[in-house]
Amino acid sequence: MRKYHGRGLNPRLPPIAASTGVAADCQQPRRTVSCGSSRRNPDIVAHGLWVAAGAEWLRRRKRLTTRGVAGAIALGVAPDLIQTVPVAVWAASTGDDAALLAYIVAVPGGEPPMPAAVATIAHHLRCFMHSAIIAGAVTAVARVVLKRFPFVLLGWWAHIALDVPPHSSAYYAVPIFYPITYCGFGGVAWTTPWLAALNYILLAVAFAWLDRTRDQHHEPRSWPS
Ligand SMILES: [Zn+2]
Repeated sequence: MRKYHGRGLNPRLPPIAASTGVAADCQQPRRTVSCGSSRRNPDIVAHGLWVAAGAEWLRRRKRLTTRGVAGAIALGVAPDLIQTVPVAVWAASTGDDAALLAYIVAVPGGEPPMPAAVATIAHHLRCFMHSAIIAGAVTAVARVVLKRFPFVLLGWWAHIALDVPPHSSAYYAVPIFYPITYCGFGGVAWTTPWLAALNYILLAVAFAWLDRTRDQHHEPRSWPS
């Protein structure tokens, strides 16, 4: 099993500059690793749990189908999964499972070497799924076609909204204005221990509150109303 120790092993990818601000981050258009993909960064789990908590809260007030809730949770985690597909296909075709694992757990500067085409596709998939502009366009089309706001899209919106604060300019800033710019906001990196701990403490509080209030009666109304 090969091990990857850093971007320096990959001559096909541009070097990571000392990234201390949004401007520096904007100079790195070839981001290839998902927000939240580090081994110290299991926020894909947190994404799913937050959407599940929100859906449960909403389900008590609106008539939501189980399929809709499942779809919202799936869209809540999909932005961090879809980008791994081209890497997984390439890794499977080459038998290099170590590269896929290295990609999934990478931190900035530690991404494994891979063909430029694979890195580019993964990069744009990540940007596409983390863009408020793209999500807004999809929402607008769905709104026109379906003549309502599809509940499942809340999962996608929740992912983007939850992703912006816990990513910094030096830690995969979320490109919410893609394709206009790769720039994002500089928040506090999710890998900061106190932030990760706080996130899961808040999740525990949210689920405890949901459990405590599960018998409270609400008259669910149709979605949307
Ligand atoms: Zn994400």
